Amino acid sequence: MAAGCAGSLLRRCGKLRRSLPTRPVLWKASPCVFKSSKSEALSDPVNDGVVCAPLQTFKEQETMMKEMVKKFAQERIAPLVQKMDADAKLDDSVLQGLFQLGLLSIELGPEYGGTGLSFFSTILVTEELAKVDPSVALICELQNTLTNKLFTQYGSEEQKITYLPRLAKDMVGSFCLSEAQSGSDAFSLKTQAEKKGDYYIINGSKMWISFAEQAGVFLVMANANPSAGYKGITCFIVNRDTEGLHIGKKEDKLGIRATSTCPVTFENVKVPETNILGPLGHGYKLAIGMLNGGRIGIAAQMLGLAQGCFDHTIPYTKERVQFGKSVFDFQGMHHQIAQVATQLEAARLLTYNAARLAEAGRPFIKEASMAKYYTAEVATQTTSKCIEWMGGVGFTKDYPIEKYYRDFKIGTIYEGTSNIQLSTIAKSIAQEY
Ligand SMILES: Cc1cc2nc3c(=O)[nH]c(=O)nc-3n(C[C@H](O)[C@H](O)[C@H](O)COP(=O)(O)OP(=O)(O)OC[C@H]3O[C@@H](n4cnc5c(N)ncnc54)[C@H](O)[C@@H]3O)c2cc1C
Repeated sequence: MAAGCAGSLLRRCGKLRRSLPTRPVLWKASPCVFKSSKSEALSDPVNDGVVCAPLQTFKEQETMMKEMVKKFAQERIAPLVQKMDADAKLDDSVLQGLFQLGLLSIELGPEYGGTGLSFFSTILVTEELAKVDPSVALICELQNTLTNKLFTQYGSEEQKITYLPRLAKDMVGSFCLSEAQSGSDAFSLKTQAEKKGDYYIINGSKMWISFAEQAGVFLVMANANPSAGYKGITCFIVNRDTEGLHIGKKEDKLGIRATSTCPVTFENVKVPETNILGPLGHGYKLAIGMLNGGRIGIAAQMLGLAQGCFDHTIPYTKERVQFGKSVFDFQGMHHQIAQVATQLEAARLLTYNAARLAEAGRPFIKEASMAKYYTAEVATQTTSKCIEWMGGVGFTKDYPIEKYYRDFKIGTIYEGTSNIQLSTIAKSIAQEY
């Protein structure tokens, strides 16, 4: 075609295009399209000596820890689970065992009497304990991901020397944020700390405080400057024997009954200024930061719970005979079991990935919320299905399945309800696009 001809065709096409109604170009790639991908390229994995290992690859120490905890849980916890649930009380021998094995100081350095392992080890230990008893897993999760971490990251040298060796040896810590009127809306808390010379006077009431019965130290979020709103919230270290600190009646709960959950009241509780943990007015930052990591711990608890329930159930379905064959062998059962097993695997990968991201110092808030939200959903589905697969006996207290079914529910409530996790995930997505 001659150049002149082609030019006139293009001009005619241009006119035609301009006269068509404008429509969005549906297939144009959004400029934000790849922002949600957090993958990081290694410049030269082979020569850097980095192996891109599957997520279920553990370091030697992590494997050893996992195996040791598995043995401890089978030998020392399993025989006591039913009694602890019925009595709603953690057995002293279990708590002592956790301290002796260094399971309540996993990431603390040896200089404080800690085990000196990784955050990922805490996740594996929590998962392994939850397979046998989610209540025991909770004390490990809270002590490692909240109490110890708050002291390690924000404590003064003196605070660290005073508390960390005790937290590794024989002292439980409790984290006091929630109040009767402030749960999901945690930073609307009403507990106040009034400055009097070089002391603060704390007044207020906390609700739902885990392990308040056992705790030797309480990390209390109180507002030291209410006119500044949430920016007045400050974290105070309060010893159990401080005058004016009252521990209320233990809640009678549906699940995780071996954990104590109590209201804690502060009536003119006098604490020295030196008991402020981290900067004045930074309590909300401390709490948010710790809870983000804590959510991965709760995901590990839910994952272990679901896996433990599944592990108890499948052998039963293989032994139980109906219509002349094991109930496992019906195709209708195969499909359900395979579906739950797949969900468990997905929950594990979400949890491990969030933990490895946190450990690597990379952003993990969205992934932690996804892991907590999804593992709680999987625990719901798994425990419910396991009762059905066991038939009538699964509904009785002769088997541990009904206890797993009661224990899972808390995973949708504490350290941020499932709705709050979904809001966090959506907030991240809103920023990505
Ligand atoms: C066994 C147990 C142990 C606990 N341990 C501790 C502890 O050691 N320390 C501590 O400080 N706290 C602890 N908690 C408190 C726990 O973190 C709160 O219960 C939780 O944050 C929910 O608060 P809430 O119970 O007041 O529920 P609410 O906040 O009243 O929520 C009620 C419902 O409203 C929904 N909702 C609320 N806000 C929104 C929103 N913005 N969007 C959508 N839905 C929303 C929630 O998802 C939920 O379904 C514990 C609780 C329990 C039950």
